[in-house]
Amino acid sequence: MTTPHIIVLGAGLGGTIAAYELREALKKKARITVISESDDYWFVPSNPWVAVRWREPEAIQVHLPPIFERLGIAFTSAGAKRVHPAEKRVELNDGAVIDYDYLVIATGPDHAYDEIPGFGPEGHTVSVCQTHHARQAADRFDDFVKNPRPIIIGAVQGASCYGPAYEFAMILDTELRRRKIRDKVPMTFVTAEPYVGHLGLDGVGDTKGLLESTMRDRHIKWITSARVTSVDQDVMHIEEVAEGGAVTKTHDLPFGFAMLLPAFRGVPAIFGLEGLVNPRGFVIVDKHQRNPSCPEVFALGVCVAIPPTGPTPVPVGVPKTGFMIESMATAITHNIAALIDGHAPTAEASWNAICLADFGDEGVAFIAQPQIPPRNVNWASQGKWVHVAKIGFEKYFLRKIRKGESEPFYEKLALELIGVHKLKQNA
Ligand code: FAD
Repeated sequence: MTTPHIIVLGAGLGGTIAAYELREALKKKARITVISESDDYWFVPSNPWVAVRWREPEAIQVHLPPIFERLGIAFTSAGAKRVHPAEKRVELNDGAVIDYDYLVIATGPDHAYDEIPGFGPEGHTVSVCQTHHARQAADRFDDFVKNPRPIIIGAVQGASCYGPAYEFAMILDTELRRRKIRDKVPMTFVTAEPYVGHLGLDGVGDTKGLLESTMRDRHIKWITSARVTSVDQDVMHIEEVAEGGAVTKTHDLPFGFAMLLPAFRGVPAIFGLEGLVNPRGFVIVDKHQRNPSCPEVFALGVCVAIPPTGPTPVPVGVPKTGFMIESMATAITHNIAALIDGHAPTAEASWNAICLADFGDEGVAFIAQPQIPPRNVNWASQGKWVHVAKIGFEKYFLRKIRKGESEPFYEKLALELIGVHKLKQNA
């Protein structure tokens, strides 16, 4: 019998930790190949810091080939051109074709900037979704501070990632105050969410109250249920939408610097594959992270299809964050191991959310267990400790990736956060 071959497609957060966990669990029972588009892993949660030069990109970069080699994982950064599920093979951009017995898709998002004219790093707004774009944003910010004007931060229609938008708004506020030019910069938060602090999760604990009062404190105005229709060189065109879809107000907001998170969709290598992905290109999975049409295909992370929490005037997606991504990696590892041993897959991901949103001098943390309400744990808290915890989290996570450590840690982090909160309450 030949040794089964597992391909992990994508080496961002989900793909890297899935490869580490699979290697540790399966030892010599399987060959593993990771296909990425780059030789490097970038710690995406630190991108907002890169955009104001609080971090150099190199500080959050991990060079993957020597780590995978040490772990006995084959690696290519040629990138996948197309997945061929019927033939169980992946076609690479360099013309090579690799067969698999099991495929783990962790390709994250394609960023749909092109859905709004003038939007995105090729247009008039910057982005913090990828580290190279955050680096460009830092250059634009350097120019901006020489000539301070209004700022717009937020997330457009169909976005599913909101935490980093709030983080970036507050980080900019902190940076502008440190530079003593905050008084020259009117700031507006523009979001598809129906209310501040919805976060694609219908709120967690009192995120509505916490984030509204923080924005009031920091003089950041907001527009919710917003649809951005187009962006010109220095003006953003926005519609406010009521329940039922009627446009209640339009805005032509001037800006000198703007960052709005885009909507996501599936990457071209899988987009349109009947049965594998939904119309938006996200991979359809069952409770075992397994595709129902192609049972040898599993998926985790942002590329997975998850329905929204409920209807909203403007489409709002559900975020997929580290805690749930890690639990998906663990479930996939157990399930592929079971299949290789001739058993049915039984493991399920926990789909919880934990977030440390850094504001540069303090922050907001929340835990949602499960992610979709009603919940067993629905907790949010604010303080300077969140800023310190986020720095510690970055260090810890980068060390784990550099060492090739397979042990999951988000569950531990969640328990420690709740512990810290209880200690504070009792103090
Ligand atoms: P990614 O990390 O994006 O990885 C996908 C990988 O697949 C990429 O390396 C990509 O190059 C590769 N790929 C794509 N197409 C192909 C192809 N055809 N062939 C080969 N490789 C391919 N979550 C948290 O829990 N905490 C946070 O603080 C946090 N902060 C965030 C901040 C920002 C700015 C953003 C955008 C997200 C944040 N998230 C956070 C959410 C989430 O954890 C991250 O987006 C995370 O990186 C998602 O992991 P992923 O593996 O699904 O996708």
